[in-house]
Amino acid sequence: MSDTLLYEGKAKKIFSTDDPEIVRISYKNDTTAFNGEKFEQLEGKGQLNNEITSFFFNYLEEHGISSHFVRKISETEQLVRRVEIVPLEVVTRNIVAGSLSKRLGWEEGRKLPKPIVEFYYKDDELGDPLLADVHVQTLELATTFELEKLRRQALEINQHLLELLEPLGLLLVDFKLEFGREASGSFLLADEISPDTCRFWDMETNEKLDKDRFRRDLGGVTAAYAEVYRRLNSNN
Ligand code: UDP
Repeated sequence: MSDTLLYEGKAKKIFSTDDPEIVRISYKNDTTAFNGEKFEQLEGKGQLNNEITSFFFNYLEEHGISSHFVRKISETEQLVRRVEIVPLEVVTRNIVAGSLSKRLGWEEGRKLPKPIVEFYYKDDELGDPLLADVHVQTLELATTFELEKLRRQALEINQHLLELLEPLGLLLVDFKLEFGREASGSFLLADEISPDTCRFWDMETNEKLDKDRFRRDLGGVTAAYAEVYRRLNSNN
């Protein structure tokens, strides 16, 4: 097996495979926040994020939303279609938290009148700034038409995830998606969907079951991720 490391990010490694169209993603236990300033190895986190991401991509596929995901091949690895990641973070929010709370001066936990979609520039040096449509177009990351499609797809994914998570007692506060460009030039959902990239709160207690436990030193990070995984599998 040709097995070259193509790229190492903060939470994942990407390897080539024999098929030039397919790459292997290996999920790491490395956990970072605040642009890499805060760092820790959390035993079992890579496996949980691989399992949870695989679950979500399979679920979305069943609901007509394709992604780069091909299949999970081990506890910490999956095969995905090779795409060129667009440096755009597509954030969808149902409830105010994190940076939106600071931006609007609204308290965390306030329900938004309707879900909103925002775009951030994935650039560590700039600190991932919020982008208006004109900036996305100026940077040539996406056209007006593509931005509309991304917004529509993000809201559709939000709807499917809400329908899945509500009966499990999980509040989907917000989440970040990334997209890749295929050889044809069209956008394809990529990256991961996990407690590293979403905010999940317990519906009864509002307890945080996501990376905010790490960002805010609340402890019990992997236990929270494991609880999300347990609930996703509680119907089987
Ligand atoms: N998020 C992410 N990667 C980032 C920034 C944000 O996955 O680089 C996710 C984050 O986990 C949350 C959502 O996007 O689910 C919105 O994050 P926010 O803008 O509130 O930023 P934060 O407060 O996390 O800095």
